[in-house]
Amino acid sequence: MTPGPGRLYPTVSAHLREAMETGIPSVSHRSEEYMTIHRNTVDQLKELLDIPHGYHVFFSGSATEWMERIIQNCAAEHSLHFVNGAFSGRFHSIAVELGKKAEKVSVSPGQGFQNLTQPVTPETELICLTRNETSTGVSLPPLTLRELREKYPSVLIALDMVSDVPCIHTPLLQVDCAFFSVQKGFGLPAGLGVLILNDRCLEKSRSLHGSGYYTGGFHSFPSLLKYAEKNQTPETPNVLAIYLLGKICRDMIERGIDRIREDIRFRAETIYSCFDRHHLLSPFVKEQKFRSSTVAVADVSGGSASLIRHLKEKGFTIGAGYGKRKTDQIRIANFPAHSRQDVEKVCELMGKL
Ligand SMILES: *Cc1c(COP(=O)(O)O)cnc(C)c1O
Repeated sequence: MTPGPGRLYPTVSAHLREAMETGIPSVSHRSEEYMTIHRNTVDQLKELLDIPHGYHVFFSGSATEWMERIIQNCAAEHSLHFVNGAFSGRFHSIAVELGKKAEKVSVSPGQGFQNLTQPVTPETELICLTRNETSTGVSLPPLTLRELREKYPSVLIALDMVSDVPCIHTPLLQVDCAFFSVQKGFGLPAGLGVLILNDRCLEKSRSLHGSGYYTGGFHSFPSLLKYAEKNQTPETPNVLAIYLLGKICRDMIERGIDRIREDIRFRAETIYSCFDRHHLLSPFVKEQKFRSSTVAVADVSGGSASLIRHLKEKGFTIGAGYGKRKTDQIRIANFPAHSRQDVEKVCELMGKL
């Protein structure tokens, strides 16, 4: 139950076997067969994630790549980043490396943003948000996206939803692009990133390209669109991963995404109440409204190593703290691949310490 990569979704191995038997890994990426796989995965994603009409779906190798492409394609100079941990921090530092005037609004680790709608510099072209900061277990409350969109209708909004998709519903109309990779909530092997974006991002990209900005070459938005319209990718993609993603989306649709989301909420309550009751643990995120339901983080009095080791001996791997909080915290992932029994067992084992 680590937050990245997460446990594989239970049906992955059966799909993998079937893929091997039917020769999926060696399908040509320009063949009819590939295009059918590609189209199916996009269709399943549209259904599972309720992707509005007019939004496009692109594939790459990682979520981190999408951070870089979003900045290249959506901002000539001015991006604004809400930073409350390592992943939102990376989004900002990529913009700095690309030579943008990247502003940041920061809060300390474990804190959330009380107000995202503070005045932004008038030149701001792009606002970058991380909905679930995996390093600290802080999430954005759902209403903040709508408030931001209403306040800044003409600014592009990019949303990192890597570590809570598909566990909570994303009203995609409130953002211009959103992205994730598949090794967290989807429970798939790492190495596939997905970007969902609207035509405003494409227009911006074309206008930047027209003004001489580099927008990412073969992975510029217009290049990705040109191939996506043919159910293809510019390069040879990870066909197997794209195939598996379509299968897992289908499985989640059939299990019922509302039910999956309800289970996540239920298990999150179990985990946080276990943190609250435990004499050595205290939730890192003090304000309930900011607590992530998919990555629960606790401070461990006396250090986290022995607790993590104890659980490991009993067959449960939970995450250590992130970066410099590695030895002081635990992070428990609560993704669709986990069950109520797992969570209850982990809480029970921790309760004995
Ligand atoms: C894991 C993670 C990423 C990075 O994903 P990659 O697939 O490794 O690029 C980005 N953002 C968040 C919030 C994450 O949890």
